[in-house]
Amino acid sequence: MKINVLENSDYKIKFTLEGAGVGFANALRRTMISGVPTMAIDWVDFQFNEGALFDEMLAHRLGLIPLKFDYTKFNMLNECECGGKGCPLCEVVFVINRKGPGAVYSGDMKSTNKEVKPLYDNIPITEIGHEKNVKLEAFAHLGFGKDHAKNQAAIAVCIGYPLIEKDSGISAKQIVDAFPKGVLKLSGTSIEIVDPFKVDEFRDVLDKFKGKAKIKASDSKFAFNVESVCGMRAQDIVLEASKRVGKKAVEFKDLASKL
Ligand SMILES: [Zn+2]
Repeated sequence: MKINVLENSDYKIKFTLEGAGVGFANALRRTMISGVPTMAIDWVDFQFNEGALFDEMLAHRLGLIPLKFDYTKFNMLNECECGGKGCPLCEVVFVINRKGPGAVYSGDMKSTNKEVKPLYDNIPITEIGHEKNVKLEAFAHLGFGKDHAKNQAAIAVCIGYPLIEKDSGISAKQIVDAFPKGVLKLSGTSIEIVDPFKVDEFRDVLDKFKGKAKIKASDSKFAFNVESVCGMRAQDIVLEASKRVGKKAVEFKDLASKL
């Protein structure tokens, strides 16, 4: 297999994967979305909630706040040595203690672990009036997107790499010119794909060649676009997903060897 990174920033990565099948590429994509554990608030103890939102809604909003965390330092609650009671290895507690008037923001969440905090400080949580209070403790644990959407790790898209086919009567330049600028470029007399996702998006522009030029999707080369929607870096989500797909394959091999 071959990987070529097209773009890589903290929360977004685009790459191509060559020499794999559709099943493997899709298993990776699905694991990036819902099979990588992320940290999210899943329990809230309220002392006072005199704000505009009732308890369930406020707890729901807290659950959706993306948290920055080091995924290598935490255990799943049900796999932790504390037996699921909650300890610094599997749990992070946030405290909100705010007096009104004003809005309560994610920046008001005081973490008991200085390495774990909301990804952004300016996410509005609730609004409290004059002489009203919000005081609560919120507990965050690792969880999977396949169990609850608040733990979704990424938005991951995978497409078959575009293959441009054309009759000999049509020049490479005609094809490149048919697309918006920056999607394709000429490399000598051949066509180079700059952005496979844009080619896919604008595939209709080849309709004007009336079947003499078309785009097919490869079934052995794929383009991935992965955007993190949790506190993990996109590259770490890809790495963790590949480890987990590999682990499943080893588990299956072990089971199959006992048949
Ligand atoms: Zn624990």
